[in-house]
Amino acid sequence: MSSDDEETGDGRMIAWPLERLARVMRAREHEDGLNPAQREALRYVARANRFSNTPGALTRYLGATKGTISQTVMALERKGLIAKAARDARKSVRLSLTDKGRETLDNDPWVQFEAAVEELGGKTRRRMQRGVEELLAREVKRGELESFGICASCRFFREKGRDGDAAGPHLCMLFEDSLSNEETGCICIAHEARA
Ligand code: SF4
Repeated sequence: MSSDDEETGDGRMIAWPLERLARVMRAREHEDGLNPAQREALRYVARANRFSNTPGALTRYLGATKGTISQTVMALERKGLIAKAARDARKSVRLSLTDKGRETLDNDPWVQFEAAVEELGGKTRRRMQRGVEELLAREVKRGELESFGICASCRFFREKGRDGDAAGPHLCMLFEDSLSNEETGCICIAHEARA
């Protein structure tokens, strides 16, 4: 690595720590009688909006098979961490966290990692966020995957489009439905980045 690389950053010296970090975190995901897939599913259910909290969307998010997701959801249900409820007349299922599931999530390694990120300086955090988002977007595009972004960056989002509506104040043009402030921070299977 040249002295220039040391000043401007080197791809390897960012990729290697990220790889090691993922490995270290993956090892911690085996704590408390859970496995990494179960933890990923729990985090997904906590973050997904009401259009995305289904086993089908979870399958797309994790890039797993239907059978694997079905096993994961059943295991989480047995442990009392998630609950299933009928979603609509087509008998699809809506997943939600139970109180025990929310408590378990408080001790999740990646949720705790958020606090470590908060301890970094604001400038470092902003730069990291931009860089990681850009790298993730490229990989998502390369793999032709759903983006699972949030409303603020979605082409269907209209801020204050339902101002005055009790379920609002924002509008999703795709689902033609109101969105609360809280929902706009959730991830969505139908998210499409603005051009
Ligand atoms: S605005 Fe986009 S991200 Fe938000 S609910 Fe609608 S489709 Fe999903």
